[in-house]
Amino acid sequence: MITLKNYINGQWRESASRETVDVANPSTREILARNPLSTAEETNEAIRAASAAFAGWRQTPASARVLPLYKLTELIREHQQEIARILVAEMGKSMADAEAEMKRALENCEAACGMPILQQGDKLIGCSYGIDGEVIRMPIGVFTMIAPFNFPAMVPFWFIPYALATGNTYVIKPSPRVPMTMGRLTELIDQSGFPSGVFNLVNGDKAVANALMEHPEVKGVSMVGSTATCRIVAEKCAQNNKRFQAMGGAKNHLVIMPDAKMDQVIRNMTTSCYGCAGQRCMASSAIVAVGDEIYKQTCERFIEDSKNVIAGNPLDPKNINEPMLMGPVISEKAKNFIHEMIEKGIEEGATLALDGRGVSPAGCEGGYFVGPTVFTDVKPGMEIHKTEIFGPVVVILKADSLEEAIRIINDHQYGNGASIYTQNGFYAREFKLNVECGMIGVNVGIPAPVAYLPFGGMKASQFSHIKAQGRAVVNFFTEERIVTERYWPEK
Ligand code: NAD
Repeated sequence: MITLKNYINGQWRESASRETVDVANPSTREILARNPLSTAEETNEAIRAASAAFAGWRQTPASARVLPLYKLTELIREHQQEIARILVAEMGKSMADAEAEMKRALENCEAACGMPILQQGDKLIGCSYGIDGEVIRMPIGVFTMIAPFNFPAMVPFWFIPYALATGNTYVIKPSPRVPMTMGRLTELIDQSGFPSGVFNLVNGDKAVANALMEHPEVKGVSMVGSTATCRIVAEKCAQNNKRFQAMGGAKNHLVIMPDAKMDQVIRNMTTSCYGCAGQRCMASSAIVAVGDEIYKQTCERFIEDSKNVIAGNPLDPKNINEPMLMGPVISEKAKNFIHEMIEKGIEEGATLALDGRGVSPAGCEGGYFVGPTVFTDVKPGMEIHKTEIFGPVVVILKADSLEEAIRIINDHQYGNGASIYTQNGFYAREFKLNVECGMIGVNVGIPAPVAYLPFGGMKASQFSHIKAQGRAVVNFFTEERIVTERYWPEK
């Protein structure tokens, strides 16, 4: 059984900590590796290495800083299938979902290769007589990431390529539940030609996260995880005067208007609700049907289509080509929480129209499986509507009008994503202008933006305003310095 190593100053090192947590395949509970819970001192060592490397890296020309990224892009492309399998083994999503995740990680590398253009400043000739104004975008120092379990490859790549290409150095702490994917990606980063210390990885949990947020040499923290952890990170980073982005939980709504193309909409909703077993921050988990007739049709047809989703081990060869495959949830704790929420929904008086409890695919009896679960007759404000369940549980609500549907979304604590299904331009426009969510879809189940566009939510889904990926994140990783200058004539 391997114990994972840390990557500090260009070297793989065993952690000094004897404390470990098991990394288990959630389909089978097979133990895949031991993850060390590294200490604050080891984290500080990684920060010192990153800080020392910053001096040379910030002076490296922008065009030379992206050369290792080009190499990394090539390496990831070459190894993406193999990494997708590691990802599936430790996280449990389907192979198709893991491949899509790898593509998005790659896309972020490609986008960051454009940094010599993205990082350019602005100049105003003639702010006053003989005086010019200039905005330059400078790298800042050591940046860090505290990563979640559900996208072990894609989410870190919302940040890493941009941080490095802008001239900063980096320390990442992967999720202790899924550290192997980032470990393998770090082996490729190691081969890409970045100078030692520019990128570092420290495995662990809160002790590492706290050290990253407390060390004076750390200039910024990108954290993605639950809203409860975002709050802790936001408070700590504010106290320590660090830049931060903290992207949290979600409850994403799908609104169906009476004119929606139901034949296309139903399958689109099914895949968006049950992909990654509902463990996407952009997973749809609340459907709002507008009008009695469309509510009735939606309930019947969505429940029928939900029954086509097959729970199983994504690495079982017989499941590899199964298009409606759904893997397990991440842990026993997650499964128990989902069961508690199902009980809660029954107590609250919603109708449990499809019950996913008790699902146990052959060959993975110990796995953390929950089948597709649907509640109808759900009212806004019920716990099953208010809470991010983060599993394959969908609640269906009825609204009498588009205004009421928008109100249901806007009254919710979260504001990550929301979509409308309609052919009507007026409804679509009302929706996109009035819904308080960071990412909006029109006839798209998961409006997760491509790497060239910003990714981020509002309200309890995001603490601090700077979004991930694309041009938006360049602002996070650079300090705008505004220079006002004049030169007097020699004589
Ligand atoms: P989590 O909050 O349990 O953990 C996230 C990270 O924070 C881990 O690396 C963990 O070690 C660390 N952490 C946990 N407690 C901490 C503490 N007290 N102090 C410092 N660090 C701490 O989240 P998770 O279960 O890994 O991820 C799932 C959550 O992430 C869901 O709520 C999901 O919606 C959210 N998520 C959001 C987005 C987004 O873009 N908004 C994207 C992906 C996931």
